[in-house]
Amino acid sequence: MQKDIFENAISRLDAAFANANIEAEVLEQLKHPKQILEVAVPVRMDDGSLKIFTGFRVRHNDALGPTKGGIRYHPNVSREEVMALAFWMTLKCALAGIPYGGGKGGICVNPKQLSKLELERLSRSYIDRIADFIGPHRDIPAPDVYTNSMIMGWMMDEYSSIMRYRTPGVITGKPIPLGGSLGRDDATGRGGYYCIKQLEKQLAWKPSNMRVAVQGFGNAGQHIAQLLHQDGYRIVAISDSQGGIYSDNGFDIPSIIKAKNESLRVQAVYCTDSVCEAVDAQQITNEQLLELPVDILIPAALEDQITLNNAQKIQAPYIVELANGPVNSEADVILDKKNIFIIPDILANSGGVIVSYFEWVQNNTGFYWPLEEVQQKLKTVITASFDAVYKLSASKKLSMRTAANVHALNRIQDAIKAGGTQEYFAVS
Ligand code: NAD
Repeated sequence: MQKDIFENAISRLDAAFANANIEAEVLEQLKHPKQILEVAVPVRMDDGSLKIFTGFRVRHNDALGPTKGGIRYHPNVSREEVMALAFWMTLKCALAGIPYGGGKGGICVNPKQLSKLELERLSRSYIDRIADFIGPHRDIPAPDVYTNSMIMGWMMDEYSSIMRYRTPGVITGKPIPLGGSLGRDDATGRGGYYCIKQLEKQLAWKPSNMRVAVQGFGNAGQHIAQLLHQDGYRIVAISDSQGGIYSDNGFDIPSIIKAKNESLRVQAVYCTDSVCEAVDAQQITNEQLLELPVDILIPAALEDQITLNNAQKIQAPYIVELANGPVNSEADVILDKKNIFIIPDILANSGGVIVSYFEWVQNNTGFYWPLEEVQQKLKTVITASFDAVYKLSASKKLSMRTAANVHALNRIQDAIKAGGTQEYFAVS
């Protein structure tokens, strides 16, 4: 029988277990999310009808602190997917060394089919259903696929109404006037960019020689494309859910972002002021984008994009996993044999949760930091993580994923062991 996405995610730890001295009961705890909540989310639609959507919130493990993780709006959201995403958050927060466990939430919905008012009612109704489960010192949500800062603002407002006091620390990724942090908007892309810069230092490549393909052109994909473009990297392919474009000359990323924001689709254009003109490019599918002969491939859309079906055809020597779980475990084995170097998701996209943590600290202290301070602190934290993982990977000849998991598991184990394990409790 095929493994579900959660089992698949857990099975990835086997390699890390073989290389770390992790006790069986730590694994046992990680196999079982601490709490899983499934809710029916009622929404009054614009035509007066009532629709019920299914929502989830999972608190996977809180050994290191309150659980933390985004809320996803997508038709494919399922219990197992939310469990897997929450599990990755446990590892990601541990690896980053921030005092959080892992959580995640989602609603099974196609948000593109809702009006703005329906979207607001859905978001408030979901918070109403999960209000007892979350809290600024218990479980702190944030944005994920198809949710954004405005939705986080509505959710914070709804939670505050229920609690009867203003509670900005219950959710991160909020608009700045509602207690958001400067620098949260591009933090995920920026964190991935800092990881690439560290690798560039190690391998001494020249940015202008590097051809990059980015799958997914939302928050994470747009910002990393923009930062790499500014730095001289050549972004030759990009895509969104409707398909992609390819040009060997590379694209002018600010123009493409401008056009995407106006037309909601990725188009090959070059803009001067408000005028955008079409440029030469080839239309490609998302499948073709993944298989291009580029130097760096950045999946920044959804999980399970590289699987047994296409792993053999991947040509990029470097993959930077900005999305969560874009390479499944079977594909991982194949990519490893092909010597493809992967900066794993729990490291590459940890910039988002690192700056979410900064936002929460600022909310809880009521003292707000300038942008430069946020970016500098992000750089310090993620660069230290990257260097530690790279060093372990090189010295023990482990993949970057296994090395990242070893670091994360060691931190989680230290916290669990501090409360006592079999060794301590066994009657002698
Ligand atoms: P988003 O909603 O802003 O953007 C998602 C993008 O993916 C959109 O451009 C959409 O068109 C595209 N897309 C959807 N389905 C696709 C498909 N089948 N093929 C290609 N493109 C497709 O979401 P985001 O916040 O940028 O998140 C993207 C990924 O990054 C997710 O895996 C998310 O979990 C991960 N991530 C995001 C953050 C964050 O702070 N935003 C943090 C950590 C991880």
